[in-house]
Amino acid sequence: MNMEFKRKMPTPQAIKDMYPITEELSEYKRKTDLALKKLFTGEDDRLLLVIGPCSADREDSVLDYISRLRTVQDKVEDKILIVPRVYTNKPRTTGDGYKGMLHQPDPNSSPDMLRGLIAIRKMHMKVLAETGFSCADEMLYPENHHYLSDVLSYVAIGARSVENQLHRLTASGLDIPVGMKNPTGGDLSVMMNSITAAQHPHTFVYSNWEVNSKGNPLAHAILRGSANKYGRTIPNYHYEDIKFLCELYDKAGLKNPAVIIDTNHSNSGKQWDEQPRIAKEILHSTRHSNDILRMVKGLMIESYIEDGNQKPDGGVYGKSITDACLGWDKTERLIYELADLR
Ligand code: PEP
Ligand code: MN
Repeated sequence: MNMEFKRKMPTPQAIKDMYPITEELSEYKRKTDLALKKLFTGEDDRLLLVIGPCSADREDSVLDYISRLRTVQDKVEDKILIVPRVYTNKPRTTGDGYKGMLHQPDPNSSPDMLRGLIAIRKMHMKVLAETGFSCADEMLYPENHHYLSDVLSYVAIGARSVENQLHRLTASGLDIPVGMKNPTGGDLSVMMNSITAAQHPHTFVYSNWEVNSKGNPLAHAILRGSANKYGRTIPNYHYEDIKFLCELYDKAGLKNPAVIIDTNHSNSGKQWDEQPRIAKEILHSTRHSNDILRMVKGLMIESYIEDGNQKPDGGVYGKSITDACLGWDKTERLIYELADLR
């Protein structure tokens, strides 16, 4: 092996003991978990918005952004449930580039995973304490979920991880909704197989333990578009795409057929400013088919304070250093429009 074993990381329990959450904060998470459960089981017909920056790169601007979401959430709570995206670990297509706050608590300094782990736990806790939101993160490294399991209310499995066995089996042992993205190549059977695996019980090894999972009935689909062999992006948010997913769910016999539609990534071809149009088109589709209305539970939107993106050393406060995002003014307008359309 050519790895330097730098240091042993603290266990999830050790980190949770060092940075414990209070009963009051746990109650926020319980409330969100319950609201999400009702939404995914069809008891609540509000629209879910998993919304926030592509990567949560610094605590101050993330908190500023989520405080703004809080004000909006309170005004639209009869129509929309907001779960902020606080994405602290980023998959990279070639392995190069900023891998999230977990790796680099300071995007312009060398990786420091212990400092990063503490920084992401503290950020999630601070968001809970200051805004009352328990958030969504990507489950990039399944075993790391345990470090944040008491603060997260939603996880997504990314397009590059969705075929991986440990991701699927870990999802089967969680009691929060897990969104399985379609893979970058677009094959929906990979996503459906992932949901099937996650909805069933398994025995496997997790963090050096032999564990039994019960199966997760809240595992569901996320459509994020794809790229073909020529590198052209192929969206999958149109009416016919969603209808096709309804048919796949009909055949699969899964619990709680549900989809979240990602309005950025290969659905927008990374044209971040197309997201409002795409979001409104999806709501339009829900008005033409009851199957679609029942299955589409929400949208995933990449949004931050400033429009667009910058290089990791760009230094503009509230501007994405990974995928380009919709800025705050347009985001706020969009959420009110979506509430009116619902
Ligand atoms: C993301 O949500 O920022 C992301 C990396 O998504 P995907 O896995 O769909 O590329
Ligand atoms: Mn992104």
